[in-house]
Amino acid sequence: MTNINRQVIMKTRPVGMPVLENFEIIESPIPEIRHGEVLIKILWLSLDPYMRGRMSAAKSYAASLNEGDVIMGGAVGQVINSNTSQFKEGDIVEGFTLGWQEYAVTTPSTIRKINPDLAPIQTAVGVLGMPGMTAFFGLLHVGKPIPGDTVVVSAASGAVGQLVGQIAKIAGCYVVGIAGGKEKCSFITETLNFDAAIDYKNEDIDKKLTEYCPDGINVYFDNVGGKITDTVINQLANYARVAVCGVISQYNLIEPESGLRTHRSMLTNQATTEGFLVFQFAQKYHIAIKRMAKWIKEGKIKYKEDTVEGLENAPSAFIGLMNGKNFGKLLIKVSE
Ligand code: NAP
Repeated sequence: MTNINRQVIMKTRPVGMPVLENFEIIESPIPEIRHGEVLIKILWLSLDPYMRGRMSAAKSYAASLNEGDVIMGGAVGQVINSNTSQFKEGDIVEGFTLGWQEYAVTTPSTIRKINPDLAPIQTAVGVLGMPGMTAFFGLLHVGKPIPGDTVVVSAASGAVGQLVGQIAKIAGCYVVGIAGGKEKCSFITETLNFDAAIDYKNEDIDKKLTEYCPDGINVYFDNVGGKITDTVINQLANYARVAVCGVISQYNLIEPESGLRTHRSMLTNQATTEGFLVFQFAQKYHIAIKRMAKWIKEGKIKYKEDTVEGLENAPSAFIGLMNGKNFGKLLIKVSE
């Protein structure tokens, strides 16, 4: 082990779509740990759309970064030194604020020990981590599907969307995914068994929704916002539920986009819209992890990861995520 820690910092705050010049790789000594702290060697980084919010100065649920800060985010790592009885050397842990770096010093309250026998360890930031919990609770608690419902999900091949569709199938629903491009659409229907897919880049979403959802949409799990959402909301069924999970189409806008007025559809269909943040379900994560792990073992849930090697490639991979280049849960493999 060297005593150098490579870190990715936000050099300048992005305006609009992030560019490589907003990031810089720096080197600093690996810090010493004090009483009550642990030193973690980062193995996997999770790249997630919400990180764009952290890079903005605007008020959000995730604290804003300042220029010069290490990019914060979820990661999986191994404890290599511990000054607390709660963790020992060799433990594999997941933490939400370990950040884009090779080594992180943290305290026990920010990490959880993971069971490597359950599934490959990187799933702790994927299907058995934050995106998986988002799909599980967002669909089942907010979308409240019942068997026979028609469920539509946007960003359907992504980390959250691919799981939403499969959980909806387990719940006995008819599932339509909206994704960008033929390859992603074929994947969700052929490999994940969604009933239908709409390629929003090449197909008329409105026409396709009319064809696939003749009785209207009972649950819309929204990952993208913007024009796609305007179109879906105009085809809701009576008493529909809209689970607002994310608005990735809006994250890089410099000026707010004006949209269709959707209240008429909400009113006439007596529909409900509910925004949610996954953390509100934290007390129940253990239930979802157990069920998702069982569904994976039974072959009822598949998950696609998109792995990029090397910490230095995190900035370009993140920019790719904002442009739909990732295909599945985006991970950076930092170390063996
Ligand atoms: P992801 O799907 O793995 O990656 C983002 C995908 O969004 C891209 O691959 C791209 O797929 C699509 N996309 C990008 N720009 C788009 C645009 N302008 N219009 C339409 N689609 C676009 O990301 P994820 O981790 O699953 O997250 C999905 C959403 O959930 C995000 O909005 C995220 O912020 C949100 N989220 C919310 C919570 C919560 O607690 N509420 C938790 C986790 C995630 P295509 O090629 O198909 O366009």
